[in-house]
Amino acid sequence: MSRHRNVRGYNYDEDLDDDDLYGQSVDDDYCISPATAAQFIYSSRQERPNVEPPLEEEEMEEDEAIHTSPTLTHNLNPLDQGKLYSCLDLMRAVLGDAMPESVLTQAALRCAFDPQRALDAVLSVESVSTGCVSLSPPAKDREAGQCQLDSEVLPKVARMTVSGKKQTMGFDVPSTEENGVVPSPSRPETPSKGFGGAEEPPSVPTPGRTPGKAKQQLNVRAELEKRQGGKSLLNLVVIGHVDAGKSTLMGHLLYLLGNVNKRTMHKYEQESKKAGKASFAYAWVLDETGEERNRGVTMDVGMTKFETASKVVTLMDAPGHKDFIPNMITGAAQADVAVLVVDASRGEFEAGFEAGGQTREHGLLVRSLGVTQLAVAVNKMDQVNWQQERFKEIISKLGHFLKQAGFKDSDVFYVPTSGLSGENLTTRSSALALTSWYSGPCLLEQIDYFKPPQRSIEKPFRLCVSDVFKDQGSGFCVTGKIEAGYIQTGDRVLAMPPNETCTVKGISLHDDPLDWAAAGDHVSLTVTGMDIIKINVGCVFCDIKEPIRACSRFRARVLLFNIEVPITQGFPVVLHYQTISEPATIRKLVSVLHKSSGEVLKKKPKCLGKGMNAMVEIQTQRPVALELYKDFKELGRFMLRYVGSTIAAGVVTEVTRLRPSPLPT
Ligand code: GDP
Repeated sequence: MSRHRNVRGYNYDEDLDDDDLYGQSVDDDYCISPATAAQFIYSSRQERPNVEPPLEEEEMEEDEAIHTSPTLTHNLNPLDQGKLYSCLDLMRAVLGDAMPESVLTQAALRCAFDPQRALDAVLSVESVSTGCVSLSPPAKDREAGQCQLDSEVLPKVARMTVSGKKQTMGFDVPSTEENGVVPSPSRPETPSKGFGGAEEPPSVPTPGRTPGKAKQQLNVRAELEKRQGGKSLLNLVVIGHVDAGKSTLMGHLLYLLGNVNKRTMHKYEQESKKAGKASFAYAWVLDETGEERNRGVTMDVGMTKFETASKVVTLMDAPGHKDFIPNMITGAAQADVAVLVVDASRGEFEAGFEAGGQTREHGLLVRSLGVTQLAVAVNKMDQVNWQQERFKEIISKLGHFLKQAGFKDSDVFYVPTSGLSGENLTTRSSALALTSWYSGPCLLEQIDYFKPPQRSIEKPFRLCVSDVFKDQGSGFCVTGKIEAGYIQTGDRVLAMPPNETCTVKGISLHDDPLDWAAAGDHVSLTVTGMDIIKINVGCVFCDIKEPIRACSRFRARVLLFNIEVPITQGFPVVLHYQTISEPATIRKLVSVLHKSSGEVLKKKPKCLGKGMNAMVEIQTQRPVALELYKDFKELGRFMLRYVGSTIAAGVVTEVTRLRPSPLPT
């Protein structure tokens, strides 16, 4: 997940600028004097006859000219005319020549020359046709026929990193207080009592924590319940072979849910069309960097949030391309459940499924990283005319493999979809070609049906750092998923390695400041009292009293995949653990184990071959913070890779070195 600076070709400022422009208030136009306005109108109108209007524009105008020429029928005063033309210019800056002027003029007049509302009105009335992408309005079209402002609804796409480089979270959201987004994750004044003004529930002391003097005791489970309005949290990763349609599917789902406004979608559609990639418009909701868009592949893990009837879902869109598997591992390591997207088109499913394709590798990886529930989106069903036979054929091939990979049949669900047309994503399809044989849930319902994972709230605090960056104000920020326990502002925490303490000054979740956060939350912490230089991606922030172990040597039980070269003592590997990729070697081959009973079959083997289960000792180049699998499942699992292939999955059984030195009290 190398969201390194060198792959960040996309200029986020452009988005901000654009939105600033859209947000320009009508008041701004009052600075145009009537004389200037008249002059402006005059020159504009002088120029107009020379411009050949597009054909469809002529046709439209025949009917509507009489009602839409502002100067002829509406008898606008010079000031209003100035406002109208300013508004039209702003609208054209967004829409180009895509819509007849008469339509724009009417909308501008209806919306009192407010360009933002007028744009929204035009876009909600008009279903914009874009060649192969059709931007159909969301099922529950909130805005139909009215000048509803939906500018507040923008996609929030955060990014995670695995590199040791410092960088910012790339939130693609204009950080204004207007849209409810606070510019920096710095914490506001903490209320002195209760949470959200509510009466404090009876607090249950959390085992394994010794609260500080001034610290409020929290009944975290009750508070979590309250915070999410009774909904449970779900971290979902989207996986699958490159070009299976992962980004398009999830981008379209977010659009249908109203998480992407029409204007933004229209902008993506225009830009992707200009770039000759019109079919990628929905994918651009999640693929944000210039390079991702140019190459048409997801490289990093895009993160955003949406809700189902009973869940608050943090969505991670993982890259499918084999070059970015390490990024995908980081995404999967933080997921509770997965959506595996496969391309139903003839030949394409097979290409993704066979050797060299990522369908198998991703499936195996997520299972090895602890994901047990899987929804398979059998995508691009439009390409095979929604044929039941093809759906069945894919289920039978994939089902067999997924069972081998360790998924229970009862935890795998198949949903026929079309990410491009939006069929069966947020609402059950009504298309006869599908309903004649499928009456199951749509993708959103299926996500809603996932069993919520258990959160290790009662365990000591653990957060694995996925990003480190300097923000305004004192201290610096780290982001990551809280794997266990909970944290409150004002807490002192320990970072391992480097075995140093700091104070948590602020906590934010999806850009909203909070006083506390708990296991399962992807948060950003503002910390002080520590030098940023000491913290790298992969460090674990933990409870001071019950810290995580740091080590450079540990024993593990590994399951070897389909490896070509046998593993011998000293074999070089890359250890992928949570958010880190660390060079390591297989220092010792301890024993070969029986696959199911774990019984020792052979001690000190000379080499290990494909499919074997073994106990090995691993030496990492630099110390890493790890837990034993039996204590913390989430923090005791890892993957091993060798020259670009995943060769094994493992669990930590014994940590042998570098326990933290006692801290000064
Ligand atoms: P990713 O690499 O898995 O994220 O795939 P993308 O979302 O970038 O999509 C790859 C290509 O497949 C794009 O040209 C999409 O327009 C196209 N595509 C995605 N979903 C569908 C679908 O349901 N039907 C059809 N016909 N094309 C699709």
